[in-house]
Amino acid sequence: MSNNSININYLSDTNILDIKRDDLLHPHISGNKFRKLKFTILEAKKIEAKTLLTFGGAFSNHIAAVAAAGKIHSFNTIGVIRGEELVSKVNNNPTLSYAKAQGMQLFFVSREQYKDKESPEFINLLHQKFGEFYNIPEGGTNDLAVQGCAGILTPQDLSYDYVCVSVGTGGTIAGIVTSAAPHQHVLGFSALKGTFQKEIISKYSENKNFTLIDDYCFGGYAKIDLKLIRFINEFKENHNISLDPVYTGKLFYGIFDLLKNGYFRENSRILAVHTGGLQGIAGMNEKLKKKNLPTINV
Ligand SMILES: *Cc1c(COP(=O)(O)O)cnc(C)c1O
Repeated sequence: MSNNSININYLSDTNILDIKRDDLLHPHISGNKFRKLKFTILEAKKIEAKTLLTFGGAFSNHIAAVAAAGKIHSFNTIGVIRGEELVSKVNNNPTLSYAKAQGMQLFFVSREQYKDKESPEFINLLHQKFGEFYNIPEGGTNDLAVQGCAGILTPQDLSYDYVCVSVGTGGTIAGIVTSAAPHQHVLGFSALKGTFQKEIISKYSENKNFTLIDDYCFGGYAKIDLKLIRFINEFKENHNISLDPVYTGKLFYGIFDLLKNGYFRENSRILAVHTGGLQGIAGMNEKLKKKNLPTINV
């Protein structure tokens, strides 16, 4: 996709912030999940796999993306979902009911079993239950995914001094770091506590021109507060761009805060990657309603 950047350079007259709209890549396979799945789908077709199996939590963008991609490309799909208690709640969960509607078969396991999901014993059990399948890791991060995310930056993006992106497993930023030019600095905003993803990045690239921070994780994965909700709603109002509460909302909150604090070099050009994830808003809003908190505008 061409760089569908949007200028929001009113923020500070010495820095320019553009947004790469990967959230617009595909109507159902959101942003970086599209990039991460692209080569995996090609590979699965090449080896004539019939079934894709993958793993995820109750609101996972990855689960939704695999379900949609499977439907489009005529694969059977199986989602191994963390949390047995969800069996009876599929219809109240926007992500899981979407996945099911795409034809994904959902298999619920306990949190304990889920931790063990990469063990040969568990994989064997899955094969006994479901037969042959092409195994896509949780979050979709593997060599092919990193290769797909290397395509996020194009030669047109060489004019940027900073590339900012949200970080979960680290696969997306790893791809960006492999294709970033030496004069560019990649800034990763961890969506969860810790910056352990630097090990994933070093596995794929020798480039050291990146920094990972978790200062804007809001206490951990999928944790949010009123400040973040207000920020996301104001951002939507001001720029007509939706942000999700788990990844991109925290990314832009962080970028704005760093801009305010003069973190970026003067006169620098900053590219923020909107990695999508908007399907997660509906599920988060259900939770917010139960807590009597304001909801996120889509
Ligand atoms: C999954 C996801 C991420 C994190 O990607 P990783 O490759 O796991 O680091 C970032 N943003 C959105 C919207 C996502 O869905």
